[in-house]
Amino acid sequence: MALIVKKFGGSSVATTEKILAVAQRILSEKKSDDKIVVVVSAMGKTTDNLIALAGGIDAQPYKGDYLREMDMLLTTGEQVSIALLAMAFKRLGQPAISLTGAQVGMRTNSVHTKGRILGIKPKRVHDELNKGQVVVVAGFQGADKLGDPVTLGRGGSDTSAVALAGALKADECEIFTDVDGVYSADPRIVKNARKMKEITYSEMLEMARLGAGVMQPRSVEMGQFFNMPIHVRSTFTRELGTIIREDYTVEEKDFEIRGVAHDMKVAKISVLGVPNSPGIAHTIFQSLADANISVDMIVQSIRNIDRDINDIVFTINLTDLPEAKKVIAVASEKINAASVLVEEDMAKVSIVGAGMLGSPGFAARMFGALARADVNIDIISTSEISVSCLVRGSQVADAVNSIHDEFFPDR
Ligand code: ADP
Ligand code: ASP
Ligand code: MG
Repeated sequence: MALIVKKFGGSSVATTEKILAVAQRILSEKKSDDKIVVVVSAMGKTTDNLIALAGGIDAQPYKGDYLREMDMLLTTGEQVSIALLAMAFKRLGQPAISLTGAQVGMRTNSVHTKGRILGIKPKRVHDELNKGQVVVVAGFQGADKLGDPVTLGRGGSDTSAVALAGALKADECEIFTDVDGVYSADPRIVKNARKMKEITYSEMLEMARLGAGVMQPRSVEMGQFFNMPIHVRSTFTRELGTIIREDYTVEEKDFEIRGVAHDMKVAKISVLGVPNSPGIAHTIFQSLADANISVDMIVQSIRNIDRDINDIVFTINLTDLPEAKKVIAVASEKINAASVLVEEDMAKVSIVGAGMLGSPGFAARMFGALARADVNIDIISTSEISVSCLVRGSQVADAVNSIHDEFFPDR
């Protein structure tokens, strides 16, 4: 007997035919005494369509007291797919029950649209599994202490699945998606990207944080927290995918870097002409923190040494831009900034690999690859296992391919 958590993303359940195919596949692989929990996303582009629907009420629905209502709206997407998948199982003769995030005891904080899981009490799931049901759970959602629905950020069904697998002490956690594993770069952009057999939590987490959308970063953190290996594989084929785990167990070719990630959802904000005095950066970034907006790259440069004037430049997630604009308008007035410049057509490209720790030369090679592709670098940032460059959004495909060619030359 094994307890297995399987997650199916939006493209895997985009139509009722696909939902039936998912149920069929699960049953064809299920041993008679296996306990199966299936976490599903909203069908196809449903979440995007729901966001667009809210946009019909207000062009910028991601702000202030709309956020609770956004969660009320967005959680309906997953509710459609769990109901249909549970019906598909029943049609195939398999008892099944659909449950929302709240019903599986997924407790979150109250940060609407960016919720974090505080704990899971999956008694109901155990009870239903013990009755022989396949349990179909709505991904991407939990409930706060008031019982209000809270979503976990885009791609959050990955996190629901891994967290549930950890809380249930599952034997396996499988993430089924429209690619057959984790690649050295997004295979939609780099045609000769390399599929990995394994990747460590820390390298996958860095790739995910830097934009590799195949896994939500929080889900990788959850996997590491529970020490739960995660198998990323294709919904449409049976071959093995990529295992995300603590350490490598198979011979992975000794690549110097593990992958190239890119993130198109980047906005750059420049607060220009601020006084060079204590407290200025604090005022700007505290006001963003108070609005729950994460800041990524930050650069402060002295523009005019004689007049003691600085520019402070930083990047945020594009989704946060409407709220950030409001916050920065107030803050920049407070600190007497000369002006604020917002650029939306930006992207971040990054190299990731634990192998670069302590070895010089990787950043230089990356910059060389960008120069060959005629891509200008706007901002550079580094971590122990990554180097990132902010570039023009329109140049991202050239940038990623040139960097990939540099580090994966035989592909
Ligand atoms: P799902 O709806 O199943 O959650 P996502 O669209 O969220 O699927 O994630 C799968 C997509 O992630 C792939 O189609 C691929 O374009 C993208 N992706 C980005 N970086 C990578 C990578 N390094 N390896 C594999 N896929 C990647
Ligand atoms: N449906 C949600 C989204 O599109 C969650 C997910 O797919 O993981 O972001
Ligand atoms: Mg996803």
